[in-house]
Amino acid sequence: MKTDTDPVSLLERLVAYPTVSNRPVDAIVADLAEGAEALGGRVQVLESSPGKANVIARFGPQSGDGLTISGHMDVVPTDGQEWTSDPFKLSRRDGRLYGRGSADMKGFLAATMAALSDFPLSQLRRELALVWTHDEEVGCIGSGILAERWDSMQPSLPTQAWIGEPTDARICRMHPGHCTIEIKALGRAAHSSRPSLGVNAISLIQRVLAELEGLAACWRQRRQFEEYLDAPYTVMNVGLIQGGSAINIVPDACTLQVGFRPLPGAEASVLFDEIEDSLARVQQHARFLGGDLQTRRVQTGPALLTEDGTPLHAALCPHAVSQQTTAAPFATDGGNLQRMGLSCLVFGPGSIDVAHRPDEYIDESALRECVGTVQAVVQRMCVDAEPKP
Ligand SMILES: [Zn+2]
Repeated sequence: MKTDTDPVSLLERLVAYPTVSNRPVDAIVADLAEGAEALGGRVQVLESSPGKANVIARFGPQSGDGLTISGHMDVVPTDGQEWTSDPFKLSRRDGRLYGRGSADMKGFLAATMAALSDFPLSQLRRELALVWTHDEEVGCIGSGILAERWDSMQPSLPTQAWIGEPTDARICRMHPGHCTIEIKALGRAAHSSRPSLGVNAISLIQRVLAELEGLAACWRQRRQFEEYLDAPYTVMNVGLIQGGSAINIVPDACTLQVGFRPLPGAEASVLFDEIEDSLARVQQHARFLGGDLQTRRVQTGPALLTEDGTPLHAALCPHAVSQQTTAAPFATDGGNLQRMGLSCLVFGPGSIDVAHRPDEYIDESALRECVGTVQAVVQRMCVDAEPKP
């Protein structure tokens, strides 16, 4: 039996699974699925690929619109980081619980499972669903696959969705997305003493960079959500470049990877189109020389935007540091869950400032408080609320 009412011992167990993104998650999936089953949940393990799965557990009346609680099971790597103690062994020091994922976000998973282990789930009058995802940290891959493959024939998830990422108990209703496009210039190799025989792919990319800079400047003018975001425009970052093979060869290939962050409410596909359109002149030039330009949409992490004043917002307010909603500076699974028709808020214990760093921790008091918060919110959304007509 994998249930436990103590969030600290639960967290200790979850941290011990080294679920660094891109590694299998079978063990933690089995643990969480077994735990939910022991509590009487209807559990689905939805395999995305071998070793990778999302877990959905549903409690209470079927298709009664109550509450969805979501979090990711993967963590970021610890390579090259100096940790005081083993990152995959929970360590308690000065009221803090140290371990990879303690804040981001196995603490929330542990608090939720502990909360439900000590809750009269038979009294639910509306449905409660848990959605645990894989590979959030490398581009919300698990939730993306979930949204893509979601069978519209099966009962929809409760639309009010709570994502427990660490926000220091602030209620976030929006965040930018994160998308990646790859741009590859193809030229023709030649000896560098005979440049006229070749087409220099790096020179082509130079033109691409100039066009992208122009587009980024144009995006900076289109400001929105100034009161919420540090960078209230679509941010572009040329993050990777690779080209050439030797100093005396005209390079025949050069590849760029460009990241951009769609503003809340923006359609990623429109921005992808804008990038591709901005390269039309370079493409024409490349083909004139006998080269080519190829683009590939590598990854689409959609932005999140939820209206103010949802029922979940009201339920979270008593537990938040402020009733005002704000923006999360990071992307979450919320963008993909929104595509499935869910109305998501991001709210959780612990701080994103310590996440992804050595000696990541969560305050033990915040973890224990979160257990009570989960119980109170489930009570309000799924027990006290009138059953769905
Ligand atoms: Zn996270």
